[in-house]
Amino acid sequence: MTSTMTAPVIITDEMLRRFRERAPGYDRENAFFREDWEEIKATGFLGVLVPEDLGGGGWSLPQYVRELQRIAEYAPATALAVNMHSYWVGIAAEMRRLGDPSLEWLLKEAAAGEVFAAGHAESGNDLPGFLSTAKAERVDGGYRITGHKMFGSLTPVWTRFGCHAMTEDGQIIHAFMPRDTPNYTIKETWDTLGMRATRSDDTILDGVFVPDRYIGRVLPAGTADLFVLCLFAVALSGIASVYLGIAHRAMDIARESARKRTSLALTRSMAYNAEVQHNAAKMAMRLEAMDAQLDRLVNDWASNADYGDRWPLKIVATKYNVVEGAAEVVNRAMSISGGTGMFKASELERLYRDVRCGGFHPANTLLAPEIVGKIALGIDLGEQPRWG
Ligand SMILES: Cc1cc2nc3c(=O)[nH]c(=O)nc-3n(C[C@H](O)[C@H](O)[C@H](O)COP(=O)(O)OP(=O)(O)OC[C@H]3O[C@@H](n4cnc5c(N)ncnc54)[C@H](O)[C@@H]3O)c2cc1C
Repeated sequence: MTSTMTAPVIITDEMLRRFRERAPGYDRENAFFREDWEEIKATGFLGVLVPEDLGGGGWSLPQYVRELQRIAEYAPATALAVNMHSYWVGIAAEMRRLGDPSLEWLLKEAAAGEVFAAGHAESGNDLPGFLSTAKAERVDGGYRITGHKMFGSLTPVWTRFGCHAMTEDGQIIHAFMPRDTPNYTIKETWDTLGMRATRSDDTILDGVFVPDRYIGRVLPAGTADLFVLCLFAVALSGIASVYLGIAHRAMDIARESARKRTSLALTRSMAYNAEVQHNAAKMAMRLEAMDAQLDRLVNDWASNADYGDRWPLKIVATKYNVVEGAAEVVNRAMSISGGTGMFKASELERLYRDVRCGGFHPANTLLAPEIVGKIALGIDLGEQPRWG
């Protein structure tokens, strides 16, 4: 990204090289990125989005996504999982910056070393955050929550599980469950196509009690406020930056491979083959657009651009274009690389699998056009029936 707002370097090049060395082993063993995690934690990167006056790094959203993209160019799964913690911190920081300090306690806990995870994903719910298959019941001093959460990145290390559930009268409860809470189990389901080092296992909540002080928000189902808007802005721009990082790395690999690959029918390397140049051009053009769109989004966000009701369109369209664009860039890198790219020893083989996960994140590839199309046409997102 070309943001002019640069951040102090705390993740060094040497660390990044170690992340890249470890990534194939984590992927092969389906293992959590433990050593990367410990190194990242020791740098203070997990607190960069906490405001300085609360003991954090005070980074802006553009600074953060730029650095996350840099990590993703070396170890995509590491970057993606770290974002699941940092997006909670970013939501709380952005809300405070925009005049709502209600999640300041979360920022203080993050500065003190607590690790937040995202427990939104549920089977049969493509509107995470707005609806929930998990049940919340109001009890004395808090809520009791029952539900089956999946895709929980950072399962081995979180200390606060940020999840949501719905009451019988249609309220969405956003809760942060401390790790030592009784009545939940972790089911190790994570054996997936890509992003394997994230260890995104299932968490089954069986009447867990979350006290009021760990209830972040209560909102009528299907509605959005600053909390939900910040959730979309921070989480999706972080996710997009990870897939953008994969695409840039694929471009580098493709360039190297085109310059090395030869053909008996050519006097020079395959970089001089017209179709290779055509693919490289398509990749570079796509990357230029992806870089620009994400950069514009986060900088507009940080400078309080007034897009009003169009903010969800801006955020979702950026995430969609970046993750779909990243998949195209990696596909083309595979063509340029040729058969070498399909060997397990090739980094491209792993990127090819990792990049395929981008469309599953909310707003997923089916939901994004619905949101963008409705906003573009001036149709209320809550319009029922959903598709008519
Ligand atoms: C790499 C990666 C990391 C992610 N990390 C997080 C995270 O940390 N926190 C988070 O909240 N979200 C995370 N997401 C999840 C994301 O938000 C989506 O919710 C998720 O991708 C699946 O949504 P889906 O609707 O496509 O899944 P679905 O297809 O609805 O469900 C997939 C899972 O449900 C099971 N399943 C499907 N249908 C049924 C059925 N009828 N009955 C029983 N079981 C069924 C499948 O076996 C599978 O385990 C992550 C996604 C990816 C790709």
